[in-house]
Amino acid sequence: MHVDILGVGNAFSGPVSTSLIVDLNGKSILVDAGYGVYEVLKENDYLEEIDTIFISHTHEDHIASLGAILNDLRYIKKIKLPRIVAHEQVARMLESYLRVIGFPDIQVYTCFMPFVKAHHTIPCYGIVIRDNEKDEAIIYTGDTKCSKEIYDVWYKYRKRYDVTIYHDCQIMNIDPPNGLASPHATWKEIALAYPDEMLECIRGVHHGMGGDIVKPFRLAQPTI
Ligand SMILES: [Zn+2]
Ligand SMILES: [Zn+2]
Repeated sequence: MHVDILGVGNAFSGPVSTSLIVDLNGKSILVDAGYGVYEVLKENDYLEEIDTIFISHTHEDHIASLGAILNDLRYIKKIKLPRIVAHEQVARMLESYLRVIGFPDIQVYTCFMPFVKAHHTIPCYGIVIRDNEKDEAIIYTGDTKCSKEIYDVWYKYRKRYDVTIYHDCQIMNIDPPNGLASPHATWKEIALAYPDEMLECIRGVHHGMGGDIVKPFRLAQPTI
């Protein structure tokens, strides 16, 4: 398994939203497709390589490139579209969105790899992608607060797999105006929520390019 990071941004910072390309046994999985992802894929001649697009939830910083990707593949490259995958709670909303942007024929698949329930403002599910030959696994959390579910998934897979967790960690402190708590994990919350052994596996994403890096945590940065 090889992971490339296309972007680490969030809804308020770019230039590219948090998105990964996971190459697994010769197949490429695009994990989320927000702002700027289409441009990075196009610049790197990678659009045609994508076999599957996983979408964690329907906020714009996770789906904004979807229309451009699908339009390019269908009408310019004229090739079969990648399979689109999401948890069933996300899939119905995603199909509505696809209808609105001109793809009423696309069915979102809901059977894939294990999903991880996130805690966010709208239905959101991360995913576990495993390489059984190399005993490597990634956990992508999607947008979320820290949670027992994420801990349990790491705990379950940590013995067999070399696990890397791409965890939401919004450094920018954005509190919604209505007094509700931010729907993202912060470094402080991550440090308090999880044991050291798990923190070692975490690479923070969804943080944008700025902010203070709080040691010993590691922030992911774009690799393309
Ligand atoms: Zn987001
Ligand atoms: Zn979100």
